[in-house]
Amino acid sequence: NASQGVLATGVYSHELDIYSESRLTLMSDLKEALIQEQTSLHYQPKLCLKTGRVVGVEALIRWHHPERGWVFPSDFIPLAEETGVITQLTRWAVERGTADLATLTGDYPDLELSINISARDLSAKGLVEWIQAALQRHNLRPEQLTLELTETAAMEDPETGLKALVALADTGLRISVDDFGTGYSSLSYLKQLPASEIKLDRALIIDILDSESSRVIVETAVNMVHGLGYQVIAEGVEDEEAAQLLRDMNCDRLQGYWLSKPMPLNDVRRWMAQHNS
Ligand code: C2E
Ligand code: CA
Ligand code: CA
Ligand code: CA
Repeated sequence: NASQGVLATGVYSHELDIYSESRLTLMSDLKEALIQEQTSLHYQPKLCLKTGRVVGVEALIRWHHPERGWVFPSDFIPLAEETGVITQLTRWAVERGTADLATLTGDYPDLELSINISARDLSAKGLVEWIQAALQRHNLRPEQLTLELTETAAMEDPETGLKALVALADTGLRISVDDFGTGYSSLSYLKQLPASEIKLDRALIIDILDSESSRVIVETAVNMVHGLGYQVIAEGVEDEEAAQLLRDMNCDRLQGYWLSKPMPLNDVRRWMAQHNS
C-alpha cells in the first residue's frame, strides 16, 4: 500500500480481465470465506501524541484461503470494489469489528474503532441502518466508530458520496479521510467533507527525517488540516524520531510499525494492558 498511484495502475489492468476465470473464482471464494469465517480482523493501535495513550484501533482484514494460504488485502480489495463484493465485506467488517470492540470496552470504555470503507459502500442500501444496528447490539456509542474512506473514493461520485457521508456523520460517527496526499486532492472538496480526521498517507511520512521538503509538506498539511477544524493522524510511522518530529509539528495522532503492527484481537488485549497501564 505504498501509494495509491501504484494501486491506480493496478486497477486498470484488473479491469481488463475482470471477468477472467481466476478472478471470478477468487470473488466467489471471498463470499464463501466471509460466511465461513476464514477472514478475520487484525487491529493496529492509534496513539494520541498529546497524552501518549492509545485511543483506538484500525481494523484490517486478513484472509486465510484454504488452498492459497494468506491472501493480501491488496490482492482482493480492489477486485472486491470492482465487482461490488466489497459491500458484503464491509458489512462483515462492521459486524465483526463492533463485536470485537465490545470485548475491549469493559477495560477501555472510550476506545475507538476504525473501519475502512469504499466508495461503493456509500451507495449501498441501508448502510446507515445496519451500522446503527451493529452499534446498538454491542452497546457502543456512534462516536466510537470511525469510517476511513480514501479521498479519491469520496470524490468518485461527489453528490451521492457527500450525501451518504453527511447522513453517516449526522448519526455521530466519525469520518476519516484516508491516504491524504496521494490522490488528486481537491482542497475545496476537502473543506466540504463532514470529516473529523484526515490521515496523512505513509508516502508523505516515509522520508520526513531525510528530506526537508517532506517536512515542509507534512508541517503545512498539519496546519492546514487544523485550520479546517479536523484532527490529523499520520500513518506508517516506523521510528521514534519520526514520532517525535510529528509530535513537535503538532500532529494529533499516529499509527505505524514503530508503535505496533496490526495484531489479532487477543494480542491487542494483552498489548493494551501493557501499553496503557
Ligand atoms: P490502509 O487503510 O492505508 O492501511 C494501512 C496499511 O499499511 C495496512 O496494510 C497496514 O498493515 C500497513 N501498515 C501499517 N503501519 C505500517 C508501517 O509502519 N509501515 C508499513 N510499511 N506498512 C504499515 P494492509 O493491512 O495490507 O492493508 C492494505 C490496504 O487494504 C489498506 O490500506 C486498505 O486500503 C485496504 N484494506 C485492508 N482491510 C480492509 C477492509 O477491511 N476493508 C476495506 N475496504 N479495505 C481494507
Ligand atoms: Ca485505513
Ligand atoms: Ca491509509
Ligand atoms: Ca496508505
